[in-house]
Amino acid sequence: MIKVDIFTFNPFQENTYLLHDESRECVIIDPGCYEREEQEELTSFIEINNLKVVELLNTHCHIDHVLGNYFVKEKYKVKLAANKIDEPILKAVKVYAPNYGFVNYTEATIDRYIDEGDQIKFGNTTLDILFVPGHAPGHVAFYNSKENICIGGDVLFAGSIGRTDLPGGNFETLIKSIQDKIFSLGEAMVVYPGHGPETTVGREMRSNPYCALRA
Ligand SMILES: [Zn+2]
Repeated sequence: MIKVDIFTFNPFQENTYLLHDESRECVIIDPGCYEREEQEELTSFIEINNLKVVELLNTHCHIDHVLGNYFVKEKYKVKLAANKIDEPILKAVKVYAPNYGFVNYTEATIDRYIDEGDQIKFGNTTLDILFVPGHAPGHVAFYNSKENICIGGDVLFAGSIGRTDLPGGNFETLIKSIQDKIFSLGEAMVVYPGHGPETTVGREMRSNPYCALRA
């Protein structure tokens, strides 16, 4: 059984996800922790629950999702996996981070490129990957069909969608990613987004003002 734990970090109120199962192996997705208190919140949870962090994953590489990459890599000696297309997006973060006040940001490099068709394994769990560009050009989502869990990043939100006005963003591409890929995961799929509360594919398919399917 996959357990999903959610931490909301940094001024962007970004959701950082910890996925683990009965084996106690764990992956960290989009660590947004920046301040020391945020880092400590994450590490003490891992310690208290006796989890073993085995990999670090990014759905995409916007600043709010990667602020804690370096800390997690160093602390747990794990590799960072992300899509290659977002590598320039990641490299740009250190250039603009000080403008947002993140003067202590340190870049962590991608160790493993992941794409649709690849799988992430931890403990007794396998996550599949969807390539869902539009918000960011190299955006991916991680999902498990048996347990209806999808860590979707900034693609589909409860009642909204990711913004498409940042470099590499495209509205039509995003809608296509949602309707062709995310919606194909089935109505019961629970989507855990990069911001705000979780939702289901069924709910957004029927009522999302941007991407609902019209009969
Ligand atoms: Zn983003």
